[in-house]
Amino acid sequence: MLRIDGCIDELRKAVREIRNGGAGIGLVPTMGYLHEGHLSLVRKSRAENTATIVSIFVNPTQFGPNEDFDAYPRDLERDTRLLEKEGVDVAFCPAPGDLYTADHSTFVTEEAVSRDLCGASRPGHFRGVCTIVLKLFNIVGPDRAYFGEKDFQQLQVIRRMVRDLNLPVQIRGCPIVREPDGLALSSRNVYLSASERQAALALNLSLKKAREQFCSGEKSAAVLVESVRKELEKEETLRVEYVELRDAADLSLTSKVEKPVVLALAVRVGKTRLIDNTILNEVSS
Ligand code: AMP
Repeated sequence: MLRIDGCIDELRKAVREIRNGGAGIGLVPTMGYLHEGHLSLVRKSRAENTATIVSIFVNPTQFGPNEDFDAYPRDLERDTRLLEKEGVDVAFCPAPGDLYTADHSTFVTEEAVSRDLCGASRPGHFRGVCTIVLKLFNIVGPDRAYFGEKDFQQLQVIRRMVRDLNLPVQIRGCPIVREPDGLALSSRNVYLSASERQAALALNLSLKKAREQFCSGEKSAAVLVESVRKELEKEETLRVEYVELRDAADLSLTSKVEKPVVLALAVRVGKTRLIDNTILNEVSS
């Protein structure tokens, strides 16, 4: 595996060489501190492309001033070993100064899908995400790019950006990978104390319960949302930020489950912000 720490020209040269071999290139953008969720994206990319490039970059522009940019867990050496073992072709690991000049002044703003849910509680977050993802697309020029459904709104915001800006890349969504007890894998789970981690199990449990209600015939958004909220509120240490049921394609409000929808939530457990979701009424492909 080639590891390129920051030199964009070096990465572009490597990509040119791979592309000249006629290879389809898959890009997996990450912020590192890799876990099985990230690796599931890598494996899907490996299965669908001749070469896979993984970027590891804790992107400062998607963090708010009071968020955890500095504290965000990092372990580049371990990440490199994991990617090597997965057979990744290139790990691209730039520093902020490699991607942003001090007077960087161009940003990408998606104005509909990114507005509510996490967009409402994290102003500027998706502007930072769209900007860095577009930069990575421009640097790598991937045929396909892989994103997890764990960050469902992010996935749909990126799809919208790609559609609206006619970007020549196929966006591939990948299912949420969970711990055996149901907690969705996240680099931020390392922040949780033992008791917080226990309380965090309510996220998946509340969604599972609502899914069961849906499977028994409940179609009302209000009832399903209230069911999740009630389950979460049983855990005194959790603070609910939002529970919402939205159209899965454009995240618009919906009062009834008729098309595919996402039941999404964000909570705070102590100082840690966690998100989770489940898709209901999915059309099987
Ligand atoms: P991050 O490093 O948190 O920015 O995540 C990088 C990519 O991995 C994003 O597309 C995430 O949605 C995806 N991802 C993170 N956690 C999971 C998970 N538990 N299951 C599936 N994908 C995930």
